[in-house]
Formats: sequence, structure tokens, C-alpha cells
Amino acid sequence: MVDIRSVHKSFGSLDVLKGIDLEVRTGEVTVVLGPSGSGKSTLLRTINHLEKVDHGAISVDGALIGYRRSGDKLYELPEREVLKQRTRIGFVFQNFHLFPHLTVLENVIEAPVAALKRPRNEAVDSARRLLERVGLADKADTYPRQLSGGQQQRVAIARALALEPKLLLFDEPTSALDPELVGEVLDVIRDLAGQGTTMIVVTHEIAFAREIADTVVFMADGRIVEQGPPGEVLDAPREDRTRAFLSKVL
Ligand code: ATP
Ligand code: MG
Repeated sequence: MVDIRSVHKSFGSLDVLKGIDLEVRTGEVTVVLGPSGSGKSTLLRTINHLEKVDHGAISVDGALIGYRRSGDKLYELPEREVLKQRTRIGFVFQNFHLFPHLTVLENVIEAPVAALKRPRNEAVDSARRLLERVGLADKADTYPRQLSGGQQQRVAIARALALEPKLLLFDEPTSALDPELVGEVLDVIRDLAGQGTTMIVVTHEIAFAREIADTVVFMADGRIVEQGPPGEVLDAPREDRTRAFLSKVL
């Protein structure tokens, strides 16, 4: 489903991704761990073409992200094509990024109506089902500021799902939450994992990673240091850097 090949990314003289190779199969959950500054967010952002790669290529569901190949040349896609690709990839951010001036329901229907041109009444029906799924059916007409952080994040997940994405990306979805609100968001992500949603999740919740991950990827300093099933990477890491990181976060 996701094929990341030899991806490099720099900001000025700072090399942030130094050759990332990663494959994610359909229906699998990949959890990415690593110290602050190791490039986890940048990696997620390149998958969505929110950051352009300097070298390498990323494809999602067979489509090259951000580029069109012709012979052995790559041509950048026009913005409107990039936006279209992006609608098939859901992104859930640390800080929710809801539209503050729209109600919960309006937040969820915004993209299907504006980007996918879905009829409004269909979008509303499916938004109500999604809000039900994340346990917020009764909050459809409230505004984000009236919700707890955990509720806002569940709205953000419903909003990402409204585009029926092939792939969901989560960037530390619980790290801005008070501890007592983390569980309700993890429950929703766990359900999605159980339903076979293909996801890449950046998180520091190690117990949760152990539970949902098919593959755990440990990144440090712009490289994948180690990857494998959670029973290997989390419980019997081969690399010193993985061990050192885990001893700090566990
Ligand atoms: P954290 O756990 O703190 O979220 P991270 O692993 O997600 O860290 P990134 O956000 O990917 O790390 O950042 C990796 C490095 O790239 C950092 O040194 C960061 O300062 C730098 N960086 C990220 N985005 C930019 C940007 N737009 N311009 C310049 N430098 C950037
Ligand atoms: Mg980050």
C-alpha cells in the first residue's frame, strides 16, 4: 500500500531524512517511534506531499505521490492533482487542527462537500455515522471550543475518515491531551486498527504500540535504525539506540 524508497529530505543544511526505506502493507498498522527531532513528523508529511522529498520516491496504493513518471523522468504534479491525492490520505495532527468557526458536523462534512463534491445531505448522513462511531453523536452541533481535547481529537479522526482514505496517518495524536483523555482517543484508533485500516502512527505510547502494531519502526537521526514486529523491536531490540530510547520512555 505504501512504498517509501530511499527518501531524503533536508531543510537548508540540515539533513532530516537520510535515506528512508519503508513498506506498509494493506490493512497493517505501522507504529513509528523515535526521539524528538529524529524526523518522524517530516516522514509523515512527505507521504502526504506536505513536504517535497529531495531524493527518492513514495507511492501510495500504486500512485506516485506528487509526481508523474514519464520514461525515467519525474514531473511534478500540478497542485490540484496533489490535493486530489491528499484527499485519499487522512492526516490526524497532534493539535487537532479543527476549524474553530464550524460546528462538529460542519467540520466533518467540509472536505467531502468541498473537495469531493459530495451532495450535502449524503455527507451529513455519513458524518453522523462517523460521529456515532467515535462516540460523539450528541455533539454534532457544538463548536470545537466547547469540547475537551479528547473529544476534539475524535472529531479530527471522524473528519479524516469522512474522505474514506486508503491510508491514515497519525502524528502523536494523544500527546497534547491530559492523561485522563488519552484512553478515549486510543480506543478509537484501536477500533480502526481492528477493522483493518491501513495506518502509520507516530506515538510515544509504547504499551499501545505493542498492542496495535504489526510493525514497529524505530527512527533516530533521520534513519530507520530498526524495524520489525513489536515483540522484537520493543521486547528484544537489537540496537543499542533502540534500547536506550525504550529505557527512557517505558
Ligand atoms: P518530535 O518528536 O519532537 O515531534 P520529530 O521526530 O517529529 O520530532 P521532525 O519534526 O520531523 O522531528 O523534525 C526533524 C528535524 O527537522 C528537526 O531538527 C526540526 O527542527 C527540523 N525541521 C522540521 N521541519 C522543518 C522546517 N519546515 N524547516 C526547517 N527545519 C525543520
Ligand atoms: Mg513530530
